[in-house]
Amino acid sequence: MKFYPTLFVLSLAFTLKGAPADGPVFYGDPPDDHHPWAVHDRNRPQPKVVTPGTSSTQEQPGTPPSDAVVLFGGAESDLAKWQSANERGGPAKWNVKDGNLVVEPKSGDIRTKEEFGDCQVHVEWTEPKDVSGSSQGRGNSGVFLMGIVEIQVLDSFNNWTYADGGAGSVYGQHEPMANPLRPPGQWQFYDIIFRRPIYRNGELIDPGYVTVFVNGVAAQDHAVLEGPTGHMKRSQAGPFPEKGPLRLQDHGNPVSFRNIWYRPLPPRPSEGGTDGWLSSEATMAKRKQIAGELRQGDFQDTDQGRLQQLLRYAEALEYDKDDASIQQVESMATRYVDGLKALQTDQLTLKKEEAKQVHRALDFLAKNNVLPESFAPKKELDQIAKEHHWDK
Ligand code: MG
Repeated sequence: MKFYPTLFVLSLAFTLKGAPADGPVFYGDPPDDHHPWAVHDRNRPQPKVVTPGTSSTQEQPGTPPSDAVVLFGGAESDLAKWQSANERGGPAKWNVKDGNLVVEPKSGDIRTKEEFGDCQVHVEWTEPKDVSGSSQGRGNSGVFLMGIVEIQVLDSFNNWTYADGGAGSVYGQHEPMANPLRPPGQWQFYDIIFRRPIYRNGELIDPGYVTVFVNGVAAQDHAVLEGPTGHMKRSQAGPFPEKGPLRLQDHGNPVSFRNIWYRPLPPRPSEGGTDGWLSSEATMAKRKQIAGELRQGDFQDTDQGRLQQLLRYAEALEYDKDDASIQQVESMATRYVDGLKALQTDQLTLKKEEAKQVHRALDFLAKNNVLPESFAPKKELDQIAKEHHWDK
């Protein structure tokens, strides 16, 4: 794959899907072996629009972002989204009190009926004001991602415990980087980004990661997940399922939860995502797809329609080219130039800006070795531009 280091500007007047009608399509470095998109590529899909929620206060929970899946929003009926986490399943036997989900000690862990993989999770929890117990015995619960990776919930306010077991730890694996806990009786907020390990044919191709903010303070920073968490035992790395529930722990302490939601995250490049640094195979597959999409379209059999098709097909060569697609552009461009040559000078003057646009596109492609320097329609446009002093 050839790499074109030159910055380039290719100004196309047709309207791309959702993009403004004018301005450069390519603006920065072009697609290369590991990036299917150019830098500042106007064809790159826009991010999904999400209406943000509101922040929680001690007095009341905030609202989730517009695309969040609410797992517990304060209604009694939300308990139906949960079930007992034991093998037999059955109803979740925790309590909904004053809009909060409260552990019923000795009733067992609960889990969501819904299962999901990589996600952003928001959970709020609070400890009983009447402090009892110490270390792991004080206000212990847990948020288990995919049901198997515990982000510890503990009353870690003035309460010593082993570092990899405090609030905000990945239990038994990573101690939190800070202890920003509020006193018992106040609400604590967890914001978690979870990426499960990805295996292919039994081989790890992308580790799992977890990032945790505790009350807005970074506690885990893209911490590598070794495997499921457990008590006293070193975690064993191995394949994760694609999806799992969110599980909350009954450790015998009446911890309360509220405002629990998640948002699924898009796939990483290692599982077919197309943002970021891709393998050369994945990059070329995506570049072919982008080129294919650019060439699709209902181009009308009019001067404008043919112009649009020429520019679009020329642009597609940046992502993917072969002899056939170059020949297509050559025949479209030849027809276009022949049309210009047939015009009287005053008619040609009316076409000046449009013709300059085609000229710029072909010139750019030739300069970047996408088209041969000897590309005939480009040479003819050079000549027309020179004759009419368009290059001035
Ligand atoms: Mg726990």
